[in-house]
Amino acid sequence: MYDSFNRRISYLRVSVTDRCNLRCTYCMPEQGISMLPHSDILTYEEILEVIRVSVAMGIDKVRITGGEPLVRKGLVPFIAKVAAIPGITDLGLTTNGILLEEFALPLAEAGLHRINISLDTIDPVKYKWITRGGDLEKVLKGIQAAQDAGLKPVKINCVIQNSSDEPDATAVREFCLARGLEARFIHQMNLGEGSFTIVENGHGGDCERCNRLRLTANGKIKPCLFSDLEFDIRRQGIKQAIEQAVGMKPEKGLSNTTGFFHNIGG
Ligand code: SAM
Ligand code: SF4
Repeated sequence: MYDSFNRRISYLRVSVTDRCNLRCTYCMPEQGISMLPHSDILTYEEILEVIRVSVAMGIDKVRITGGEPLVRKGLVPFIAKVAAIPGITDLGLTTNGILLEEFALPLAEAGLHRINISLDTIDPVKYKWITRGGDLEKVLKGIQAAQDAGLKPVKINCVIQNSSDEPDATAVREFCLARGLEARFIHQMNLGEGSFTIVENGHGGDCERCNRLRLTANGKIKPCLFSDLEFDIRRQGIKQAIEQAVGMKPEKGLSNTTGFFHNIGG
């Protein structure tokens, strides 16, 4: 699939839930979110059908995200079904790592290729503050479990305020270097203000080379994180929603006033 700016669209990011077991300061309000009613959230069967149709249209890279994907029941058998779709050459997951100690091996056995784990600091007190209550020890065990399970690469997503040389980021980089983990530094963004920059060591935020579509937990195909455009797979049909999203994918991101990281999946 090519969009109107001749970018090949080959990457689908799938948010399987808007729920999360953390409340990161930059992602969610403290009081939590008004969650989608269960009937609005796509079933795994519906998500699988969207992935199958998009793979038939040219998607070959899929990433599962959230909210926190590991809080949705039945994720491991779902991953096994995604992994069995012929044509997917790259299947990844983004997680906060809190539940990963338990799930890393089953996910690897189900056919997950790679994993990104979010970690902004290795100071347990600061971690608890940023995530409003998260236990760093659990994430560290989750990271180890992912490496032990043979997931490769294991990447660490670190949100930074100003620079990847700030103290927390430097400590995360050193932690990663010592353990054979790849660190990626993401400037904290504000979707509504349209403040975004490229991801250091990654591909996000580079509009000229953007190859992405997103599927929200309630079935909207979004052609751009920094735009309000979305196409409803239940109302319009899967193929039509994808075609329209690709056809109208903006040249550059501007701002998103209706969505949030926790329901689009970053
Ligand atoms: N819960 C999972 C996690 O935290 O990895 C997956 C979903 S989370 C929305 C995906 C990524 O978005 C995480 O790496 C998180 O740090 C990032 N993120 C959330 N809010 C952000 C913001 N305001 N600016 C930049 N990155 C953000
Ligand atoms: Fe949850 Fe991930 Fe958002 Fe943190 S960044 S609140 S872990 S969805």
